[in-house]
Amino acid sequence: MRKIKVNEIYYSIQGESSLSGLPCIFIRLTYCNLRCSYCDSEYAFYEGKDMTINQILSEIKKYHCNLVEVTGGEPLLQSGCIDLLNELIAKKYEVMIETGGSLPVNLVHKNVKKIIDFKCPSSNMENKNLWKILDDVSKNDEIKFVIGDQTDFRWAQNKIKKYEIEDKCNILFSCVFEKLKYETLVKWLLDSNIKARFQLQTHKHIWKEETRGV
Ligand code: SF4
Repeated sequence: MRKIKVNEIYYSIQGESSLSGLPCIFIRLTYCNLRCSYCDSEYAFYEGKDMTINQILSEIKKYHCNLVEVTGGEPLLQSGCIDLLNELIAKKYEVMIETGGSLPVNLVHKNVKKIIDFKCPSSNMENKNLWKILDDVSKNDEIKFVIGDQTDFRWAQNKIKKYEIEDKCNILFSCVFEKLKYETLVKWLLDSNIKARFQLQTHKHIWKEETRGV
């Protein structure tokens, strides 16, 4: 049976998105096609072990939790990710995927909540954004912008307007951790009237930044 390279599986609380604060099982897949300037998951670029979908399912069963996030790295780089998502849905899990906005999402099951992290200029990965992904988002999905400075914020504002993202799905704004002050981003958001949710990356305030498996 085909195997998927898995960096780590752990049980924690969801630190982001509209489901922030809920207990969640995380399945972090290995590999990433991007190299964001602020990446906090470099350990997922190559490390991991090959697992079948059945092995993954039996590993997560022990947590007795219905919410599962498949993340990375870039989870959609491995074609087995789509099969994994389908199996999780078939097993009645509530499923989310976090993807970096550079790969098509059209094969992702419609019941999976997609968190699409389009890359702002300060990530140095802006030219990798695949905007046609927006044709495949639904109201249940969330577009995330991680803001490092005012250039990023203005850029995100323009993209939201240009692609009419407010009408398509939820919008999330985060700060690049320890680079931009929360109060600064909150002020920009309030002044802009963008219909978006400010988020704190809760897990980074509970555990130290370098803590793994949280
Ligand atoms: S997409 Fe995520 S894992 Fe990949 S380089 Fe960017 S921040 Fe790191």
